[in-house]
Amino acid sequence: MVGTTACAKGNILSLQSKLFAFFIGIVVVPLTVAALLISLDVFGLLRHQDSERVAGAAPGAAALYNERVGAINDRVRSIGADPSLKTALITGDSLTIESALRQALNGKQGNLDFAMVLDSHNKLLAQVRGQPMYLPGAAAPTAEEMAATRTVTGEPSMASLLAAYTIVPVINGSSSATVGTLIAGDYLDNTFAEELASSTGIDVTMVVQGQAVASSLKNPPGVTNPWTVAVPPSGTQPVRATIGDHPVDAVVHALQGNVPATTAALMISGPLSSQARGQALLASILGFLIVAALGAAVLGLALTRAIARPLRELAKGANAIAAGDYDQHIAVRSTDEVGQLARAFNEMTGRLAVHVADLQESREELKRSLARFGETLRSTHDLDKILHVVLDTSVDALRALGGTLMVVRPCPGGSELTVAASRGVDASELRLQAGEGIAGSVAMTGEPVFVPHTLGSGQSHRLPLAAPVEPPFESAIWVPVFAQGRIFAVLSLFDREDDSSFSAGDLDTVLSLADQAGVAIDNVVLHQEAQRLAITDGMTGVWNHRYFQLRFDQEMDRSARFRRPFCLLLCDIDDFKYVNDTYGHPQGDSVLIELARRVRSEVRDIDVLARYGGEEFVLILPETDADGGARAAEKIRRRIFESSFGKDRSIPVTMSIGVACFPRAGTDQSTLLRAADVALYQAKALGKNRSIVFQSPEEGKAS
Ligand code: GH3
Ligand code: MG
Ligand code: MG
Repeated sequence: MVGTTACAKGNILSLQSKLFAFFIGIVVVPLTVAALLISLDVFGLLRHQDSERVAGAAPGAAALYNERVGAINDRVRSIGADPSLKTALITGDSLTIESALRQALNGKQGNLDFAMVLDSHNKLLAQVRGQPMYLPGAAAPTAEEMAATRTVTGEPSMASLLAAYTIVPVINGSSSATVGTLIAGDYLDNTFAEELASSTGIDVTMVVQGQAVASSLKNPPGVTNPWTVAVPPSGTQPVRATIGDHPVDAVVHALQGNVPATTAALMISGPLSSQARGQALLASILGFLIVAALGAAVLGLALTRAIARPLRELAKGANAIAAGDYDQHIAVRSTDEVGQLARAFNEMTGRLAVHVADLQESREELKRSLARFGETLRSTHDLDKILHVVLDTSVDALRALGGTLMVVRPCPGGSELTVAASRGVDASELRLQAGEGIAGSVAMTGEPVFVPHTLGSGQSHRLPLAAPVEPPFESAIWVPVFAQGRIFAVLSLFDREDDSSFSAGDLDTVLSLADQAGVAIDNVVLHQEAQRLAITDGMTGVWNHRYFQLRFDQEMDRSARFRRPFCLLLCDIDDFKYVNDTYGHPQGDSVLIELARRVRSEVRDIDVLARYGGEEFVLILPETDADGGARAAEKIRRRIFESSFGKDRSIPVTMSIGVACFPRAGTDQSTLLRAADVALYQAKALGKNRSIVFQSPEEGKAS
């Protein structure tokens, strides 16, 4: 987790930024490039069309211009030859001259814009002029300016280039004398340009010394007056030029035959509007592009936000869960993969919360169980209770479905395992020999056995085979419980409540519980042994004198309360001193042990046999009257008499027995004991190896 966080921190870009960049990369950039390429193509195509149109129309326009200039020349010459003009000139009346000029101008087709007559001294005599329509910054040339043309510098002046005109001398035919000069022509003004344009279908601009003076072009927006024009060299192919700031493809034609195109030129071009249209198209494409890019960016932002938002929420939720807050719910906004992820996340958190609650509950349960376990181990010496609590705690701790605790007991020919506690399994038939089944093999080897879920019931060759009486299982654990310096029991646990497998950790838990249980069992057995030693005779194993007293009290009370008889038998070995003296004290001891065993085997389970002291034994025979007591005493005496004792069965032993019965011989302990003692004494006195029932003096007299 730490590594992931560090890695995530190192990456500055968020998922949303990456998606956004990706979107821009695959949508906006190609869109922009494509639009730019298309617009450049369209623009180029438009230009190409313009250029072709210009190239196609230019020769016609130039020819028309030349033709018009030639026509002007012809016309002016014909006017110069007009007799009425000559007559008027000779007369010298300017009004007449003017009238003659007016007549001459209007007389024929192909109007001229102006006509002027100068006398032989170049003095203006009369003129007729129309109103020229130049572009701003240009004014019509005067008669003097026109007359001065080529006379001073040989170069036309700027002013004189503003018109196409012819200067002809007016010659009096009869005298052949020059009577004056006629200057007539057309202004190279907008009207002229428009006439050329309308005839050729192409725009025409007159440029004089870098300035447009007349044009058929409509004043385009953003072009200020006067229009300055960069005139390229003349030619037949369109070239790039600018009119004002406006780029055009134009064919340049010299304005007048003797004037270089750089001085005065006719620029034949496509209309400014088509150029503007191209630019406008480009502008609109760019505008569209910007809008589209912005739109795409906004769309991309919305899209990436829509994708990144639920993921951000998921990340937030996951962090909250990592911090232990399981109460997380993510809004499901769609049915797509992200929506499915959110739904799965919610399901996961729901289950996690339930699982955590379960775990907490089972932890609490385990805590309580362990507390109970510790408390029980500390507080009780009841082995059965301890064995049950060991099993219960183990089952709870592992959340097992069931388990058994089988105690290993030595038996003839080996050891056997019997169920001391079971839970959740049918253990009614369960009884195994050491080495039999899995529990039996654990009892033999002391090695725990762990079967995870995947192995199943006895499927591994390394596992001992389960005995048919052992409970079936999917996953199970067996551990030995060591106590008393041996394998005391085998604890088995079968299957988990939630169907999952036991783990190695579970095995450790049970082993540790088994260790603690072993210590507790040792304590209990020790305690039981101590208790047993306190009430039994260490050498013969029969009850000691203290316990006899207890039981004697009890029997006296019980018999008195229920008015029932019982007998007390006091037994004393005959001439035991002799046995000791003859065979030695250890042999005497073994005689005592053997004798106690034989007496024990001659009486009922409910009879109490105790060592009264030395070589004397006492017997309480409940529910027994004097006859029964006499018979029992005789039976015991005979059995001892008929048995031989010692290592090689060579020691004959006899026993004398005094019998006293309640209530006849006494109704309190000391009376009854004394009676038995009296009877015993009588038996000794009468020659030993006999039993005598106590009789009161009255009884003695009666019998
Ligand atoms: P009697 O027939 O009169 O009873 O003769 P007796 O020899 O049995 O005499 P008594 O009862 O006076 O002596 C008991 C003897 O038993 C004395 C003692 O050495 C012996 N004795 C008592 N307790 C033990 C014991 O624990 N082991 C052995 N080996 N001898 C014991
Ligand atoms: Mg004695
Ligand atoms: Mg004796």
